[in-house]
Amino acid sequence: MEHPENNEAYKGLVVNAGIEQPSSVNPYLNNRPRRKKRELSVSDYVEGIVKGDVTVLSQAVTLVESVKPEHQAVAQEVIEKCLPYSGNSVRVGISGVPGAGKSTSIDVFGLHVLEEHGGKLAVLAIDPSSERSKGSILGDKTRMEKLSVHPKSFIRPSPSAGSLGGVARKTRETIVLCEAAGFDKIFVETVGVGQSETAVHSMVDFFLLIQLAGTGDELQGMEMADGIVINKADGDNLERARLAATQFRNALHLFPAPESGWTPQVLTYSGFYNLGVKEVWDMVYKYIDFVKDNGYFEYRRNEQSKYWMYETINEQLRDSFYHNPQIEAMLTGKEKQVLQGNLTSFVAAKNLLDTYFAELKK
Ligand code: GDP
Repeated sequence: MEHPENNEAYKGLVVNAGIEQPSSVNPYLNNRPRRKKRELSVSDYVEGIVKGDVTVLSQAVTLVESVKPEHQAVAQEVIEKCLPYSGNSVRVGISGVPGAGKSTSIDVFGLHVLEEHGGKLAVLAIDPSSERSKGSILGDKTRMEKLSVHPKSFIRPSPSAGSLGGVARKTRETIVLCEAAGFDKIFVETVGVGQSETAVHSMVDFFLLIQLAGTGDELQGMEMADGIVINKADGDNLERARLAATQFRNALHLFPAPESGWTPQVLTYSGFYNLGVKEVWDMVYKYIDFVKDNGYFEYRRNEQSKYWMYETINEQLRDSFYHNPQIEAMLTGKEKQVLQGNLTSFVAAKNLLDTYFAELKK
């Protein structure tokens, strides 16, 4: 049949039959030898990081997070070589229950500190839920819309593999790499649940706890906080937020005075409407000056290094024990005996430990 556009009404316009087009997929693609991605050497990583190359930094963080022993070996060397370039930063832990407004706030906080204090900001996270659910609820780039596209920021979600101790150690190591790459402001975000708050507290200079009005009896994490901020102090919620601030101020008297000599402050703000954000950060920087003057800043960082030395030993001993093939083979049997009441827990533990130490001597 003739093409409709070739009829009289379309004089001067002739539509020809098409010709066969070549495939848009390269037919030789599979025949071509695949170029193996060149693996970076330790010095490539270190050089890239120290130059502030964010792609190399990301790759190094991936290495730190990897469970493969060969990756870990390289990662540890990279960290060691980056250590002399690290430490020159302000590290702030930010905690709060889901819904407290952490991501909204971090977006605004991040932009504020970059604007007011310059430099570069890395946002890391410790998310105890990420292992269980395989989905991180923290540190997701899309949750911090403005910061995630800011040229001076680096956002990295929580490492997901392993125990909380393992996850926290990786985040701490990532801090070293970020600092070596010139990030002089580090935020470590976590959800307000016991152990993960302790882990974050053990790697930051200032621990900021985000609370909401109506949770005035919620004391979780308060003993660690250097500052408590009540979010959503806007609109109808303003009065309730102010009342909550008073309640938290009173509750702070229940805790022993902090070693730092600093009296934790309670402030209200609104992340969403960007109200009171400057005051929050003036407080953080005032604290940093205060503890730098009285020597507590140095002291806390040294104590943290000591803590992480022991944490690393504990973690690696545990790993070595539970991954020992002989122990793996015995474990369920012993557990059964204990459950059935045929063996006391102490004897079972002793048998297993004796076996482990004997294995080490072989
Ligand atoms: P996260 O789970 O702690 O990260 O909390 P989000 O930042 O996701 O915030 C939870 C909800 O609270 C969202 O619906 C936000 O829009 C809202 N929200 C956060 N900050 C404020 C605020 O300052 N005022 C008000 N009214 N709502 C806020």
